[in-house]
Amino acid sequence: MPLPPLSVEFFAFANINNTIRLRNGKLLVRLSDLLEGAPEPVLRAIAHILLAKMYRKRIESAQATRYRRYVHSHEIRNRAHLVRQVRGRKRIASARGKVYDLDAIFEDLNARLFASLMARPRMSWSQGRARNLLGHYDPAHNAIVVSRIFDHPAVPRYAVEYIVYHEMLHLRHPVKLNGSRRCVHSAEFRAEEKLFPQLDAAQRFLRGL
Ligand SMILES: [Zn+2]
Repeated sequence: MPLPPLSVEFFAFANINNTIRLRNGKLLVRLSDLLEGAPEPVLRAIAHILLAKMYRKRIESAQATRYRRYVHSHEIRNRAHLVRQVRGRKRIASARGKVYDLDAIFEDLNARLFASLMARPRMSWSQGRARNLLGHYDPAHNAIVVSRIFDHPAVPRYAVEYIVYHEMLHLRHPVKLNGSRRCVHSAEFRAEEKLFPQLDAAQRFLRGL
């Protein structure tokens, strides 16, 4: 089978986490940025493993060993640990944006819509400015992260409130996580989401981005 065109991106995963998928006839490989600068034989080993997984072929043990040795070497482990710590600290520090304070928005929604019954998780603006991710609730860190692009005077407060409200509902309606982060909306979740007072305006604003 000929190899489809390949595109490799390095991603800032906090844990070493490599993925491969076939999209529009193109192989999209995402590698942890911790592997940036890995020697070529190691990158070849990762490519071999990911391709074998995707095509359900046997992984050559020499390649598996090469990859495992590299990842488990002290150097990489320490670096992964350091990156996690730094990202963890940043996440805690940034609830207050230039325009909106996420702690204040949480408490406001808590009082108005949840009878102040919700315990506030860590609130923070994302480090990156990714547009494809509005926000997410991270149960591992008990943190709600909102994309920093919404910390802007042109963004109405109700749009930020809606994103936070949505993530608060994820707190209230926990899903069983299957290894990776998922965004699962039950019928109950959807019904409760409709209670947001400015739902139509907020959804219209977000769709128009
Ligand atoms: Zn969701």
